[in-house]
Parts: sequence; structure tokens; C-alpha cells
Amino acid sequence: MTALALATSNTVAGPRLTVDLASVAANTRLFARRTPGEVMAVVKADGFGHGAADVARTALANGASRLGVTSIDEALALRADGLAAPVLSWLNVVDADWATAVARDIEVAVPSRDHLDAIVRATTGARVHLHLDTGMARDGASPTEWADLCRAARLAERQGRLQVVGVMGHLGCADDPADPCNATGRTRFAWGLQAARAVGLRPQHRHLAATTATLTDPRSHHTMSRIGAGLVGIDPSRTTALRAALTLTAPLVSVRTVRAGTGVGYGHTWTAPVATRLGLLPVGYADGLPRVASGRAEVLVRGRRRPLVGRISMDMAVVDLGDEPVTSGETVTILGPGADGEPTVREWAGWSDTLEHEIVTGLGARLHRTAVAGTTAPTLRSL
Ligand SMILES: *Cc1c(COP(=O)(O)O)cnc(C)c1O
Repeated sequence: MTALALATSNTVAGPRLTVDLASVAANTRLFARRTPGEVMAVVKADGFGHGAADVARTALANGASRLGVTSIDEALALRADGLAAPVLSWLNVVDADWATAVARDIEVAVPSRDHLDAIVRATTGARVHLHLDTGMARDGASPTEWADLCRAARLAERQGRLQVVGVMGHLGCADDPADPCNATGRTRFAWGLQAARAVGLRPQHRHLAATTATLTDPRSHHTMSRIGAGLVGIDPSRTTALRAALTLTAPLVSVRTVRAGTGVGYGHTWTAPVATRLGLLPVGYADGLPRVASGRAEVLVRGRRRPLVGRISMDMAVVDLGDEPVTSGETVTILGPGADGEPTVREWAGWSDTLEHEIVTGLGARLHRTAVAGTTAPTLRSL
């Protein structure tokens, strides 16, 4: 959090997205206790919509030792924000700017022989993590290519071209610990490590688990866990009390009284059954409130749940205030940790037929975001 962020936040009159970094700190400490290895703080997608630099700094001060992102661009942004900790970037095209990555001390994942060859051509001294596909058929080298990739990487290492510092995999079904796909992934990862050792590689960092596997399956731990969602209070395994960090509030732009039978919003998908008061919120789907939540979502007004009515539109949403004597300018809580009865990110995900990750990453785009170091008394999210 910078002084500038604090100064500007006080002048913001519109919607406010507040990030409680004390929650990120507490979550990081929990993960550091739960794994014997290192914690890599995954701050891709702008720290899951919470602000990459703020989340990174907080995590590093509370038990994380490394950072992880997808693209080299995301890693460079962290460097530009003054973060000097080790950082790994794992998703780049073959002709990515490897030279700049190495110059800025950014470690990169190698998911294919083409990537390896391009890195060797472009740089000397890259620190790489070989990425094995452990069962998602998405990113990482397939088992049939793995031995060749390891051999070529070892050769490059012996020639002093690069250093293999890690091997990584990723579990596709960790959210359901009972799924046999987890055992397959663990076995494949162990096989991949053995194959790497067999050609003389000695990767110091061996990492397979993300949030869910770290919480539910110690067999996946190895030397490091890559934690993203968990840092910001999302636990897909529903096993652990983490602290949600985001609160979104907005002032009512206006309040009007309408008669029974009044159609509201695009397509008049909702018609007032009785005379009522409607409040206008200056937040819509361009700010990350999913349109699909129209007709389901609620907000907190003066301590009570009130429904959003009609369609959520690009820039605004309408709340049915009933006969509550609310006036324009009053603040409405759209989501938060839930301690005061406000909807949670999990509820918004349910209303939107999606997962919490998509809600939090969607909120960061246009909203003004303010980081604070602890707003209220610590609140555990309800399980
Ligand atoms: C996003 C991501 C993570 C973090 O996963 P969470 O479940 O959010 O902790 C870890 N590893 C890879 C490869 C990822 O893409």
C-alpha cells in the first residue's frame, strides 16, 4: 500500500473495492504452517484482482518466499513495483522475450523442447523450471516428450547455457480429493522427477500442489506449494477457514419511488409487484458484477439484504429498497467477508454459476481499489 493510494482513496466518491491485507497476511501464515516446504505466492491476474504488488509484498512478509505469475509481462510489472524476490513465470509463447526475463532475474517454466531451444538461443544463464503435464493435457510437456526435454536441458546445463532449478506439475482434479486423477498426477510427477534425476538434473524446487492440494493432500507437497486463491481467502476444498479480503461498496446515485407494475431495466425482466423505492448503484457488468446474476443477486442496505432487480447492465444495477427510507448517497455493500451479513464472493459465484476465482478476478478491471492493513476485527469466513 502506498501513501498515494491512501490519499486518493479518500477523495473517491464512487464504488470502492477495499482489499484487507491483514486477511492476506493471515491466509499466507496459515499456508506457511500447513506445508513443510516453501510457499510461492501466485499473484497472476493482478493478484486475483486484489492488486499483485500489494498481495506479493504482504505474502512475502508473512511466510511466502517466492512469487509466481503467468507471463513475463506480469513478472516485469512486479519488478517495476520494486519487488526483488525470486519470481517464476510459467506461461509464455516460444518467442517470448527471454533475454529481458533473464536480465530482470525472472525464472521461467519450460513446457516444451521448442521453448527450451528458444531460451538457449536467446540467453545465457536462464534459471528454468521444467514443466511436466501431470494429467490436464493443458500446459507442460507430455510424458512422451519428457525424457527428451530433460536430456536436452541437462546438456544445455552442462554447456553452461542455463540452470534447471525446478520441476513443476499441476493437478487438475485437486478440488475433489477422492478423484483418482490426483493419484495419477502424483505418480506421474514422481516419475518425472526420477527421469530428471536419471539424466543428472538436480532441481532444487519440486512443486505440484496449488491451494487445494496443499490443504488436503500432504503427499502432493514436495519442496514448495504454489498458492494463489488461498491467499485471497478462496478455499475450493471447503475444508479450511480462510479470510476473505475484498469488500465492494457503492453509494446510491439516486433513489426513486415507482408504482406497482413499473418495469425495471433492459427488457423489463422485473416489474414492481407493489409500489416501492428503487436505488441506483453505479456498478455493472463492466465492473465485474456478472450479468447472469441478474434476478438472483442481493446487496446489503442498512444491515438488511435487498434484491437487485431487473438486468444488471454495463455500468449500473438497481436495488429494490422496499419501504426503507434510504436516500441517495448512502453506501450499499455489494460484497464482503460476510461478517455483517453482506453477500460473500462465494454467494456471488453461486448466483453467477461460476467459481469464486472468476468473481474476484473480474472485479479489478475498472473499480478503484484501495489496500488497507486491517479494516475490522478479524472475521473468519463461514464454512
Ligand atoms: C493459478 C495457478 C496456481 C495457483 O492455483 P490456486 O489454486 O489458485 O492456488 C498454481 N499453479 C499454476 C500452474 C497455476 O496456473
